[in-house]
Amino acid sequence: MKKTMKAAVLHAVGDLRYEDVPMPVPGPGEVLMKIRAAGICGSDIPRIYVKGTYHFPTVPGHEFAGEIVDGDPELVGKKAAVFPLLPCRRCEACELGEYASCSNYDYYGSRRDGAFAEYLAVDRRNLVIMPDGVSFACASLCEPGAVARAAVRRLGVTVGDFAVIWGAGPIGLIAAQWAREAGASKVRVVDISPEKLAFAEKFGFEAYDKERDGLCDCALEGTGAGAALSELVTCMRPHGRVVLMGNPARDMTVSQSSYSQILRRELSLRGTWNSSFNSRVNDWTATVEAMATGRIKYEELITHRFPLSECNRALEMMRDRTEFFTKVTFVFD
Ligand SMILES: [Zn+2]
Ligand SMILES: [Zn+2]
Repeated sequence: MKKTMKAAVLHAVGDLRYEDVPMPVPGPGEVLMKIRAAGICGSDIPRIYVKGTYHFPTVPGHEFAGEIVDGDPELVGKKAAVFPLLPCRRCEACELGEYASCSNYDYYGSRRDGAFAEYLAVDRRNLVIMPDGVSFACASLCEPGAVARAAVRRLGVTVGDFAVIWGAGPIGLIAAQWAREAGASKVRVVDISPEKLAFAEKFGFEAYDKERDGLCDCALEGTGAGAALSELVTCMRPHGRVVLMGNPARDMTVSQSSYSQILRRELSLRGTWNSSFNSRVNDWTATVEAMATGRIKYEELITHRFPLSECNRALEMMRDRTEFFTKVTFVFD
């Protein structure tokens, strides 16, 4: 086994270096994964260029899939995606299996090293084994797939609903597909970018037009912008359901008249965070199943593939928006 590997290491805010680091050694309960695909999350841009990680140096990357190469003979050779949250397994939320609410969790790619690297030692309990026929690039979209599935589950989409998804990025386009899967009779998307709206049409989703389409039964807020939320609530039917998912970039300011509509229309607003990964509710196994059957298009979301050696070029392209992109993914040989 090699002693070093290549990784994209964040040394300080804005200082990401492609360099040699020691090979990870799997501890008890861990396996060694050879990373084959790792997506860049929208949240990685502020993590790398603005806020930084919890400590330096850190290897980012929490949306990934790879091949198990060491640690457990029964698992070696298998393909897997990884639930990136490492719960404490001791707090009240953990006892219920609600790991996203864990009071003391660890996280691959933010609190501890992640997958912008050739190898990663991962907890066996976090593995999501992939069936044959699902590519690594597709499998690396399990994380946004599960987050989108959790959001749509909380939205309670039922047969015949008219659902509108605000924000046509990768998670929004997966959520729109989950809403269609759940039986929504009509699904529309909203975005300020004409390019994103044109891209959404490839998945069969037209832009929402309030005049033409009328008010909707349920809506997913995926932009994290107060102006979008202000507009969204005026598009809801009385008793409509809203799920809030978008990470706010700044204070969420809702206009007085829009706020009144939340009251007058008796809307239900609900937050969503991460995804469920337990034996009762598992957004990950549902996501994998939809990947295996091809019911939901994932790989088509990938607009750019880069080798890890070009990590800075990929991230700067996203930061500066020099090209249109939806999902940008590192692929490894
Ligand atoms: Zn993410
Ligand atoms: Zn916990």
